[in-house]
Amino acid sequence: MALINILKISTVYSRVSLTFRFNVYIPKDLNDALRALKVEGEGLLPIAGGTDLLVLYRQGLVKFNKLLDLWPLRNSLSYVRFEGGYVKIGALTTVSELLDSRIYMDKRFLGFKDACSGFASPFIRSIATVGGNVGAAHPLSDIAILLLAYDANVKLASLDGERLVPLREFFIDKRKTLRKPDELIVELSFKEPPTNSSTSLIKLDRRVGHSMGYVIVSTYLELIDDIVKDVRIVFDSMGKPYPERAYKTEEYLRGKTLSEDVVKEASESILPNEMRRITDYRSSAEYRVELSKVLLKRALFKTKERILGGA
Ligand SMILES: Cc1cc2nc3c(=O)[nH]c(=O)nc-3n(C[C@H](O)[C@H](O)[C@H](O)COP(=O)(O)OP(=O)(O)OC[C@H]3O[C@@H](n4cnc5c(N)ncnc54)[C@H](O)[C@@H]3O)c2cc1C
Repeated sequence: MALINILKISTVYSRVSLTFRFNVYIPKDLNDALRALKVEGEGLLPIAGGTDLLVLYRQGLVKFNKLLDLWPLRNSLSYVRFEGGYVKIGALTTVSELLDSRIYMDKRFLGFKDACSGFASPFIRSIATVGGNVGAAHPLSDIAILLLAYDANVKLASLDGERLVPLREFFIDKRKTLRKPDELIVELSFKEPPTNSSTSLIKLDRRVGHSMGYVIVSTYLELIDDIVKDVRIVFDSMGKPYPERAYKTEEYLRGKTLSEDVVKEASESILPNEMRRITDYRSSAEYRVELSKVLLKRALFKTKERILGGA
């Protein structure tokens, strides 16, 4: 397979105009892209907006010399659709497009407003894609965290066909997923939630726009007369280096009335028992746990308010 183009790509985040040389394969369509991946295997790395990959490259954390440019696939893989009881989001949909879709005008999807409007800066939002956010397999991935709260599935395509993988099983380590080298993420989808449900996402950080949160939490709630019919709680990390559900805390909340006392018990007693946090240069583990407790309370009540009609 001939690599047809050699481009100079300047990194989007650098003040100094740095340029790197890569071989870039520009596919005609999805099939062409999948054929290139089949032939080149691990040697060919997909790139969408490049807002994650090029940063890693510049830091020397990822090495490559052949890229598969997914941008030409945007005409077929950039969409937000309601189909057959499912919400379907094309992998090449940018964060701006997700926001522009105004999906959050329906209270069941208000979490998208939180995740997209708090995401980086307008420029990054205009090129960062949903598929890239999931493909990055990074703990502080806002869209992936929200999609986990919706219990979304990842659709992977290769020349051999398509398969659906639950997002909750997709991440296997830091920056490692179940995606095989000849597969592309083509769509994220989840079941349309009921009308008595909503979501929220809260990210806490020192700065807005150019750095990622210390702690991110997203909650999905389904209430019947204040009783928790269903709940999903997702943190940037519960102990593993990727976004995860707080399953035990969810289990505690299910079937209970969402009162101050119940939420206090869930966030202050149950959550810290199942959560393991790390200390790094940005924050101590203790601080992260304290923050997680506070943010969980806020997220649960914010989601409840939304179900009742608040924004
Ligand atoms: C200044 C700055 C601020 C940022 N702020 C935030 C923030 O607030 N919140 C946040 O969540 N992230 C943030 N990020 C990280 C980044 O923008 C996101 O992870 C973004 O969604 C990545 O999407 P992309 O299209 O740029 O992915 P890329 O960088 O192109 O790719 C990321 C990874 O996914 C793989 N990949 C991409 N698309 C596919 C596909 N369709 N199929 C298979 N593999 C694929 C690539 O091979 C690569 O490994 C920030 C980055 C920068 C530089």
